[in-house]
Amino acid sequence: MEEIRNLITATKKQIEHLRVLGVEGIRETKIERPKIVIEQSASSAATLFGDLVPETPALTQSNETFEQIHTEIGDCSRCPLFQERTHVVHTEGNRKARLMFVGEAPGADEDIQARPFVGRAGQLLTKIIEAIGLKREEVLIGNVNRCRPPGNRAPTTEEASTCKPFLLREIAVVQPEVIVVLGNTAMKNLLDTREGITRLRGRFQDYKGIKVMPTFHPAYLLRDPSKKRETWEDLKKVRDYLDSTSKHPQITQITPMS
Ligand code: URA
Repeated sequence: MEEIRNLITATKKQIEHLRVLGVEGIRETKIERPKIVIEQSASSAATLFGDLVPETPALTQSNETFEQIHTEIGDCSRCPLFQERTHVVHTEGNRKARLMFVGEAPGADEDIQARPFVGRAGQLLTKIIEAIGLKREEVLIGNVNRCRPPGNRAPTTEEASTCKPFLLREIAVVQPEVIVVLGNTAMKNLLDTREGITRLRGRFQDYKGIKVMPTFHPAYLLRDPSKKRETWEDLKKVRDYLDSTSKHPQITQITPMS
């Protein structure tokens, strides 16, 4: 307020000074600014410094609880996947997490245990989390779809869009700083993009102001371990970003993934 008052006083003085000098009016001149074309990424506009400017409005904080969301999901039969599932597999982990991992849909082990990422791919995900100096309990882990597709096929677009709103509501509750999307299907569904994982992996994307890092799915890494090196590079970027925004800066002990 004080600053504005000072500014008004200074402007009045300057006008008075110009009037004394014989200036009778000020004409507005339009300045043509050069157009700058910026390359668009999947869901965001890139600035000169490679940061992301969200095009969509930022997420508003939700006061819901996970329990309310899970109760509403109930014994879900909103899409055909309910017919062959054993359990609905909800998002689990720290509800104040700075980092979230999002996969595609539960597999056989997850369907039996009613927990995300507990099979072989899940064990590799746990190692990935630990490789960047975090514990599994410190992060949030979920899937776009909560029911296992028969034979582990990818969920259809309709199945994904039926289930995704619940995930988005959980994201609005926790508001993690970074979401790592695992694999093509999860990435396409969360970011609403047609781009493939090979093009977008390793580059921060945006979901309503939250940084999103697409990387390979751990099940793919089990099939092709040579891709672990790129995944490790992607995760180091996530770790560096989290370190740079941490309220308690520390040198994180990181151990390369094996
Ligand atoms: N693959 C996924 O995408 N999610 C799981 O929970 C397990 C395997």
